Amino acid sequence: MEWLTDMAARRADLTPTRTAFIDHESGATLTFRQVNDRANALARALEAQTGETGARVAVLCHNRPDFFVLLFAAQKAGLVLVPLNWRQPPAELAPIIAESGARVLISDRQTAETAKALAQRCDLQRLSFEPGEGCDCLDDLAAAHSSAPLGDGRIPADRPWYLLFTSGTTGLPKAVIQTASMAWANAVNYVQATDLVSSDRAVNYLPLFHTAGINLFTLPLFLFGGTSTVLRKFDEDAVLDLIDRGDVSAFFAVPAIYQALALNGRFASTDFSHVRSLGCGGAPISANLLETYLRRGVTVCNGMGMTETGPTVFLMDPANAARKIGSVGKAQILSEIRLMDAEERVVEGAGEGELQIRGANVTPGYFGNEIATHAAFTNDGWLKTGDVGRRDEDGYWYIVDRLKDMYISGGENVYPAEVERVLVSHEAIQEAVVTGVPDMRWGEVGAAFLILRQGAELDLASLDRWCRDRLAAYKVPKSFRILEEMPRTAAGKVQKHVLRSTFLQSQTRQDIDQ
Ligand code: ATP
Ligand code: MG
Repeated sequence: MEWLTDMAARRADLTPTRTAFIDHESGATLTFRQVNDRANALARALEAQTGETGARVAVLCHNRPDFFVLLFAAQKAGLVLVPLNWRQPPAELAPIIAESGARVLISDRQTAETAKALAQRCDLQRLSFEPGEGCDCLDDLAAAHSSAPLGDGRIPADRPWYLLFTSGTTGLPKAVIQTASMAWANAVNYVQATDLVSSDRAVNYLPLFHTAGINLFTLPLFLFGGTSTVLRKFDEDAVLDLIDRGDVSAFFAVPAIYQALALNGRFASTDFSHVRSLGCGGAPISANLLETYLRRGVTVCNGMGMTETGPTVFLMDPANAARKIGSVGKAQILSEIRLMDAEERVVEGAGEGELQIRGANVTPGYFGNEIATHAAFTNDGWLKTGDVGRRDEDGYWYIVDRLKDMYISGGENVYPAEVERVLVSHEAIQEAVVTGVPDMRWGEVGAAFLILRQGAELDLASLDRWCRDRLAAYKVPKSFRILEEMPRTAAGKVQKHVLRSTFLQSQTRQDIDQ
């Protein structure tokens, strides 16, 4: 499929002098025309450096407006950008570089040391966003090239544009191909769900190596002419400041960030009145937390997406958010959903089953991994999400749990998410994570990991009784442990597999000691 997909050129033509990006650190601004002109020159410079269409270019940086210029330059030049997780050491990044086949690595001041070590280890050509890093600077390279348009802007919309790694919540992250048609479909889904308009202002701070950092919703906002203030990384005070000053009209965060903001001492006095849209997704958000915001007159809309789906699939409408707490809303306009039961029959109407998704926002597959791609799709082209979904009588959707997290205790299916929801309704518990662990008698039983509210005390013996009053006995966890913090991915999601293996190791130690 060929489309007019030189996104920066199209947008610059419509609103050349409006502000696309504000760099929070320096206060510098970039208009849409400046983004496009810079991207044109940079595209030529990168073409000259890499010498082939489709070459992969790795990038390791904190959030910065130039990243988006680079993203548009890659689109124009037909290169595939590979944003890397700056929290990972070179030893973890090296296999990712090998998997992607990147020969060039772009870094910034904050990531220079890791980039140097990685470049040496993987024999990469190193470039930097900033001068003085002991390698060529992108601006200097671009300055030697013309900023005139490249070609006619007709670029295949289904060609790999950049790669994004999944969060690694259930295992090793997978490299998901991202295309221009996915980005357009995500933009339409998100814009229609939130009524985003060109006067909207947002803040970009979620890491750029995950889909949320790019697509929720800086890229949609760019395509529809709005302005993003870019923070190097998440900073509670800076985010609350921008909100309080009225500089944010639309906002997106993952549950861990809503939680951090709610616990910040300034939360109660922050003026949210200019923020008319607050989206949330990526992991389950508790009813408690949604209600904390509602009590402040702030409606947070829960949604569901995946790296494989661009990501927006479901988003709650604000008018029904308080009535449908726990729901991720309705399927958005460009995504088709079906529910499949265990016998592979489509569930019609209200019911439960595996969520399967089809639409222009869905990836063509995992990069260089035919086997994983084949396993992720049905024969008739639906993406198998691995999530159990439920549709209610009003057509609202719920994420019940991940299929992988569901465990069977004494022959009964247990969805940890249900148990976690009950546990966090306890006044002493701030966060609860439940995972299935092997058990001689029941096959599997639940192990619960808890973080307590500040200053709270909890008698674990009475917690068992408390749970039995609220849950069927087979759903009540057989062990409870109190933790100081949860192991999390860079996207703030709890890594259950880490908790499970720590639990199993300590069990084994206990068995040996006995
Ligand atoms: P990996 O695929 O590597 O295990 P991951 O699935 O967490 O990691 P992402 O693509 O970032 O990687 O996350 C998508 C998943 O996040 C969904 O499949 C779903 O399980 C979960 N998710 C997203 N939004 C929600 C939500 N609102 N409520 C519950 N779960 C959600
Ligand atoms: Mg996944």
